[in-house]
Amino acid sequence: MKTLKFSNGDTMHAIGLGTWKATGGDVKKAVKEALKAGYRHIDTATAYGNEDSIGEALAEVFAEGEIFREDVFITSKLWNDSHAEGQVIPALEESLKKLKLDYLDLYLIHWPVAFRNGVDSPKKPSDYLTPEEAPIIETWKQMEQAKNDGLARHIGVSNFSDIKLKELVSKAKIKPEMNQIELHPLLQQDNLLEYCKSENIHVTAYSPLGSGDRSENMKGKDEPNLLEIQAIKDIARKHNASAGQILINWQTQRGNAAIPKSTSREHIKENFKAASIELDKDDMKKIAALDEHYRFITGEFFEEPSKGYKDIYDEKS
Ligand code: NDP
Repeated sequence: MKTLKFSNGDTMHAIGLGTWKATGGDVKKAVKEALKAGYRHIDTATAYGNEDSIGEALAEVFAEGEIFREDVFITSKLWNDSHAEGQVIPALEESLKKLKLDYLDLYLIHWPVAFRNGVDSPKKPSDYLTPEEAPIIETWKQMEQAKNDGLARHIGVSNFSDIKLKELVSKAKIKPEMNQIELHPLLQQDNLLEYCKSENIHVTAYSPLGSGDRSENMKGKDEPNLLEIQAIKDIARKHNASAGQILINWQTQRGNAAIPKSTSREHIKENFKAASIELDKDDMKKIAALDEHYRFITGEFFEEPSKGYKDIYDEKS
């Protein structure tokens, strides 16, 4: 398995298990299946409401004595309602309690948007804190504290544009070590990847398979299906692989991590085995030609111009 290496020598498997929209017994079973299939990287977030179930799975697997805590790279994310002063460490401690862990491998600021404490999903402008009320650098200082306290071995962000990252990098004592962003052949984000590379910021691709499940947060049923793109299917046939495996391997071949979500035993195993494919230059060229700058996760659900959040990804003007 390819790994991404951090400056202190820690490594993270390039293929991890995503867990958004997987809860209860389903996610517990998926995490156990994944660890047994060889995964050593699990992605969750406070907002997914599944840290408890993942914690149960991890505790049961660790108790069996074959896989140890230090073998598994576990990421969670700070929800938007805990950005303000004094809220980050308690939020992280709550995640650790649910996950039954005493440290996270990676803790990320989930979105560059702040809500009032206790607001899960904003319904009105007053549910937001403005960037002046909760400046991202103040949230970041608390993330730095979490790292210094040993509660998170690594810290980073998610859904940050290069503009937002540059500003944070210019003010941070500890540089973000990761940006977790939507990436797939229809949204290749070359400029953002180049900037991250120039600053030694790793990139994890979310929704690498096109996010599957549709919710009210997304645009609906007429969205493109990455698994049905002819060029991807042709490359899959050439390598005797599945379309999903090609989409995952393309990420690791570009030097990124990918966290495909699955609760199906077959998909979990299939996705992990994507590591063994070698895409050639011609495959990479064909996939590069597919970029349409198409987002499944538009971020519009968090935009509130009256509160200073008018263009989450800084790309509309
Ligand atoms: P994915 O792109 O991982 O797609 C998941 C969907 O693909 C599910 O419906 C799954 O169904 C299906 N699937 C999985 N494997 C295969 C396969 N081999 N063949 C066919 N279908 C397959 O979507 P997500 O949006 O969930 O993104 C992945 C992860 O990234 C999330 O779970 C989360 O951890 C993270 N994420 C982070 C975000 C952020 O803001 N930082 C935003 C969005 C996601 P099944 O379960 O039946 O296999």
